[in-house]
Amino acid sequence: MNDASSPRRVRVAVEAPQHSGLTGPLDYLGPQDLTPGTLVHVTLGRRDVMGLVWDDLPEGQDLPGEDRLPESGLRPVGEALDALPPLSDRWRRLVDFAAGYYQRSVGELALSVLPPQLRELDAKQLQARLKKLDKADAESAKAAAEAPSALVALPMLTAQQQTALDALLALAGREAPPPALLWGLTGSGKTEIYLRAAQAALERGQQVLVLVPEINLTPQLEARFAERFAGRAIVSLHSALTPARRLRHWLSAHLGRAQLVLGTRLAVFASMPRLGLIVVDEEHDPSYKQQDGARYSARDLAVYRGHLEKIPVVLGSATPSLESWQHALGGRYQRIDLTERIGGGALPKVRLFDMNRLERKKGVTTALSVPLLDALRKRLDRGEQSLVFLNRRGYAPVLHCDQCNWKSDCPHCSAHQVFHKEDRTLRCHHCGVSTRVPRACPSCGNPDIAPLGRGTERLEEQLAQALPGARVARIDADTTRLKGSLESQLAAVHEGDVDILVGTQMVAKGHDFRRITLVAAVNPDGALFSSDFRAPERLFSLLMQAGGRAGRDAAQAAASEMWVQTWYPEHALYQSLQKHDYEAFAASQLHERTTANLPPFAHLALVRAEGRTVEAARDFLTAAQEAARALPLSLGLLLYPPVPMAVARVADVERFQMLIEAGSRAQLQRFLRAWLPELHALKRRQKGLTRWAVDVDPLAI
Ligand code: ADP
Ligand code: ZN
Ligand code: ZN
Repeated sequence: MNDASSPRRVRVAVEAPQHSGLTGPLDYLGPQDLTPGTLVHVTLGRRDVMGLVWDDLPEGQDLPGEDRLPESGLRPVGEALDALPPLSDRWRRLVDFAAGYYQRSVGELALSVLPPQLRELDAKQLQARLKKLDKADAESAKAAAEAPSALVALPMLTAQQQTALDALLALAGREAPPPALLWGLTGSGKTEIYLRAAQAALERGQQVLVLVPEINLTPQLEARFAERFAGRAIVSLHSALTPARRLRHWLSAHLGRAQLVLGTRLAVFASMPRLGLIVVDEEHDPSYKQQDGARYSARDLAVYRGHLEKIPVVLGSATPSLESWQHALGGRYQRIDLTERIGGGALPKVRLFDMNRLERKKGVTTALSVPLLDALRKRLDRGEQSLVFLNRRGYAPVLHCDQCNWKSDCPHCSAHQVFHKEDRTLRCHHCGVSTRVPRACPSCGNPDIAPLGRGTERLEEQLAQALPGARVARIDADTTRLKGSLESQLAAVHEGDVDILVGTQMVAKGHDFRRITLVAAVNPDGALFSSDFRAPERLFSLLMQAGGRAGRDAAQAAASEMWVQTWYPEHALYQSLQKHDYEAFAASQLHERTTANLPPFAHLALVRAEGRTVEAARDFLTAAQEAARALPLSLGLLLYPPVPMAVARVADVERFQMLIEAGSRAQLQRFLRAWLPELHALKRRQKGLTRWAVDVDPLAI
């Protein structure tokens, strides 16, 4: 303890998981001059944990006396890490909001979004880190000052880009700017607008935060920022950094030294004292939603953060989320359009190949239609590249015995084990269990067990067989497991060592492949009939994005094509795709969503329960439902009955979910606040229930 004369009650946010039922910061005794936002060590139970000094309760909002421990019962705070400037008031308001909105405890969220290594330091170790950082920063500043300042030649903006940039810069001058939705096709020059807007903010002495969906899928974006802002301090923040590096980058942002932070969803919480602009690239991308713990949407929090900081937020996409699109239609977001591709490159011609036209012969695979093979061959002859896209990895989704109907089911999940031919394994993509491929049917001994359906591995094989001499390569989660392998495989494509690239959605996103003139989706129909109402939206944006891979080189654009093999060529989604008409697609989807009362016209929360038995999971949700109905706040809400999840059992755990639908966000929030404490109580009574969680604004249903 230090020497402040009379200790006072301080509130400290500590890492107490949501399921302990604690939601607010806890009371401790600390010195008078302990500033909110300071990291301190405290004891929780018997453990020494890191805490963050939170704010005093505002006058009049004090808890009633009987709910607070008397000061004599409070424990003192331990060592303060006061070499670190406190986390700002605005940062704490962001965390307060996120914790409240996503129904987590403030302490859990606050601590979980700090770099893991920071939580383990004592005051002395922190000082050592800071000293090391000072030294490194001084050195790089010196190096930057000595280096000849390379003048980067900026491209002349097109008239459309200039208008877009002017609109953005005008926002920066406003007292409380609305978020901007930058809507522009792939290749229409959005990134150039980000760069210019960032430059303007940097010149004002502000910091810039750029969020990207997945950093390793977009190395080019990072490279373009690094090139444009050579000599400025740029750091990245994402979960693949080593803990030491992540701490260094975080500190650099927090100390105001990093001028530009480029990161994935977790970077939305980066502490940046002079934040002046937030860019969210590919704002529609599902990876902005965190899938465990606090299930926050980094895109939505970026918008909230912009509102708190009164700074512009740019959401960029060729196919905005329908939520953002609707906000723009309603005037809450300012829409900025880029309608032309740079250099006048045309969009690829979309060909919908009707699979019904194929002659159906038993045993003949229809993965690749003859016309598509011809189109691929043409590219091959001209020395151009093609991309063939299938969103399923492995060789075949299931092995099957046609004598006894045995299927390669996972013993632990309600799913098939996927056949991987390369290493002769059956692998479950849900629980990860992996077994050798049996020589014969395990059930009847039939030696002729056959793969059903196809994944990227089989597609690669079929393409190589059908197009002898073609250099076929595959990129998916299986081929890129090793560190650096994605980079080297991408480099091979860029260098022209590959004629046909086969891959999952990994290759459909972001990459700037110059020489690809044909993109083909061989089997995308599944999403049309998914039980998840967002599946068509995701498919449309994926196909638009995949199509955007073709003809990025304006000279080749005219000859570039996108092929979609489908059994439903008349479907509205494909019809809009053929015309590259996002607006029409969005209008038809929004129409469906209004009639069905789905987001963005309704607000959802999903409660998921996991149990050792079906009963445990289901009964918990049934009891939760009864508790909800007993609450007056549930009036006007739609409470759907508990149902098994699409893959109901994973790793021997039974999973159920229950959907809640509300007409307004505020109504849903009020209800959840009243209801969740009851769920904490129910959980303690429900035997066999392993976990439950609430997902506000769930993305996948
Ligand atoms: P998007 O982010 O919308 O896909 P980019 O900003 O990457 O578009 O632009 C596509 C290509 O055009 C890039 O290679 C970029 O360097 C180039 N580019 C962008 N703006 C201009 C411009 N005004 N003049 C010339 N080239 C440009
Ligand atoms: Zn059999
Ligand atoms: Zn499994």
